[in-house]
Amino acid sequence: MSKPAILIYDLGGCEGCPLSIMRVYPQLINIANVYTKCLGKVDLDREYDYAVVTGPICINSPEHVEELKKIRKNSRVLIAYGSCASVGGIILYARGGQEPRPEHRVYAPISRVVRVDYAIPGCPPAPQMLISLLNCIRRGKGYFLDLFRAVALNPKLSGFDLMDEVVLNGLCVGCGACVLSCPTNALQMIDNRPDLIPEKCIRCGTCTVRCPRFSQILIQRSRLLQKASSLSRISGV
Ligand code: SF4
Ligand code: SF4
Repeated sequence: MSKPAILIYDLGGCEGCPLSIMRVYPQLINIANVYTKCLGKVDLDREYDYAVVTGPICINSPEHVEELKKIRKNSRVLIAYGSCASVGGIILYARGGQEPRPEHRVYAPISRVVRVDYAIPGCPPAPQMLISLLNCIRRGKGYFLDLFRAVALNPKLSGFDLMDEVVLNGLCVGCGACVLSCPTNALQMIDNRPDLIPEKCIRCGTCTVRCPRFSQILIQRSRLLQKASSLSRISGV
């Protein structure tokens, strides 16, 4: 059986995400034919089984928007990898290098422009998660499928959402997974509950997918959204 074709494409950012994927190249090459700018020129006009996009989309850059739309059109499955591509991250609040204009929020998660199938947040994510997701897609089932499909429906996720949806709602079980996952030490345990240090939070969203409570909320919410959208399709509303 021939290997699937996988495109890895960087739209910009700090390059931490493409670098982190390099750590799993030996595993990727085992399961797919890999096409990436790191290994030479890539052709966006051919079809790919999977496209993994890193970096945010600059919505003031027609060239990048066009590239992203082409990638969506030519890929069976589109995966946003890393916080900038998935949930915006800290760059969601950046102005970019342009002269000050009314539009401040020019960088956005790629779901602002195209439909995304799966989104893996993290700054950068643990690259093994990409391999696990690809294996789940191949098998057609697995926890990562549900979780990262649910994240793709959320254009922002951060420690602030964790506090609002889990801790302040009394759903926290005090496991500490969020604190351990935070790359900037923006969460600390106080009396067995996480507390956010707002100025340290880079809005990467890692804590939200590591939290056993929040990840379930995301999955349940995405199922309800999907059910609601199929009902409205059936009823023509
Ligand atoms: S609290 Fe930490 S892990 Fe959570 S979004 Fe902020 S920086 Fe990321
Ligand atoms: S990961 Fe979730 S349940 Fe665990 S301590 Fe953090 S907020 Fe609470």
